[in-house]
Amino acid sequence: MYSNWGDLVKYIIVTGGVMSGLGKGITAASVGRILKNRGYRVTAVKIDPYLNIDAGTMNPAQHGEVFVLKDGSEVDLDLGNYERFLDIELSASHNITTGKVYRTVIEKERRGDFLGETVQIIPHITDQIKTCIRQAAEEEFPDGTKADICLVEVGGTVGDIESMPFLEAIRQMRGELPPHDYILIHVTLIPADTMGDMKTKPTQHSVKALRELGLHADIIVGRSEHPISAGTKRKISAFCDLPQSAVISAATAPDTYAVPMEMEKEGIADVLSAHLGLDKKEVDTTWYRIVNKEYTNRITVAIVSKYGIEDVYISIKESLKHAGRSLSTEVKIAWLDAERYDRASLKDYDGILIPGGFGKRGIEGKIEAIRFARENNIPFLGLCLGFQLATVEYARNKAGIADATSEEFGEGTHVIAILPEQEGVNELGGTMRLGNYTADIREGTLCNKLYGVKQITERHRHRYEVNPHYIPTLEKAGLVFSATNKNRMECLELPAHPFYFATQFHPEFKSRPTKPSPPYLGFVEACRANKRTK
Ligand code: GLN
Repeated sequence: MYSNWGDLVKYIIVTGGVMSGLGKGITAASVGRILKNRGYRVTAVKIDPYLNIDAGTMNPAQHGEVFVLKDGSEVDLDLGNYERFLDIELSASHNITTGKVYRTVIEKERRGDFLGETVQIIPHITDQIKTCIRQAAEEEFPDGTKADICLVEVGGTVGDIESMPFLEAIRQMRGELPPHDYILIHVTLIPADTMGDMKTKPTQHSVKALRELGLHADIIVGRSEHPISAGTKRKISAFCDLPQSAVISAATAPDTYAVPMEMEKEGIADVLSAHLGLDKKEVDTTWYRIVNKEYTNRITVAIVSKYGIEDVYISIKESLKHAGRSLSTEVKIAWLDAERYDRASLKDYDGILIPGGFGKRGIEGKIEAIRFARENNIPFLGLCLGFQLATVEYARNKAGIADATSEEFGEGTHVIAILPEQEGVNELGGTMRLGNYTADIREGTLCNKLYGVKQITERHRHRYEVNPHYIPTLEKAGLVFSATNKNRMECLELPAHPFYFATQFHPEFKSRPTKPSPPYLGFVEACRANKRTK
């Protein structure tokens, strides 16, 4: 049997009931923030019960953004929430998928590690799941310390076939860990009927499903439109075998960063502390001060994109919010469909942002928007594909290369070309230029002003780059490549423009409410200075 968890880390398991999309990740991240505010070191693990090894090959239109970690792993967007809420940097081991677990067990079987045993879901898969959870929980932070508390979010909903081995593993954990090192939070939906009465039946059913698996909810977080009344809490408490104080109301908050505050008011910290045997500690209120900061300005940024789904660009959205908040500026976003938007409307925005993307669809619309921003002095921020398209636009309209394009899109002059190390790469999963790379910044540039240092490290996810062959032509025409990694172009800008800046990397993956990303700060500031909208 699996044993020896050690008694260093306390585990907070988070499961979901009734349906997906309840904000389980935000709830878990908020719990983490509440404990971090009390001085505990908190880390997080996300379990995704799908068979994919990672999120890298998944369609963002279905699963939302693919988040990129410093080590280059392509993971579920919830890891982004954990990094932002907990202000930590995670690694691949913090996203456990069925694919990863089975791959490891099957590899061990092929090596003969199981010495002739019949390899089964219980105990081999469940043991492997526990090993993965423990390894992630015990991974050191950069300062050499380890987490006191590890959040373990089980994706999907209780009752899904895919999540069964994971739920079995966390059931076993309860028996193996000391009682004060384990707590289970169940996040469920509390809908209202047509009369506005809150209904507890779906919650009762999902707690019943938990019980059938041998799991007990120590805390129930009820997601609802409006706060849950005391009467409803009483009912849940009676049906679900937990004190009323352990039923936490989580009404939809206008801002996800305010959720820790709302849950704090509900007294969740006391319930957690009592159960986990945590000492009473003073609460650091920095987070609450940032979240409560009043807006004195408002800007509207147009994001010209291919997918009409905001979840695909969640890190960009959050980065704009982080920058906006620190500048007391509310950032409204107008999502423009790259294939359909009204060109004349572009003048109505305070800034134009072109996000990352793959494939040919919608690129001409994005190139036109970039041209408009350049010619009309509208603040422009280009990210990854946005950086590449800014290069294409400049090549076409200023450097005399009329048929300039990217090798990704087909025929033409390839001012954007495949990275040499990508030639002949056939597999899609985990093969791009991924994760942390450094860039050296040219002195006296906007980039230099934004970052205030000579060298930066940012996260990447791309297969193409500025073709070195065309760099002299582009530079002669006035384009400034202000940060480079050897002969790889990382940032570009136009000195005569109020704010025209693009990055081959994705600065949004490192932005935090407590540490806004420099390019986003510069962009929001420029939009505010350019303000056209009300
Ligand atoms: N499709 C481009 C490339 O692979 C840009 C990628 C991106 O925007 N993340 O290089």
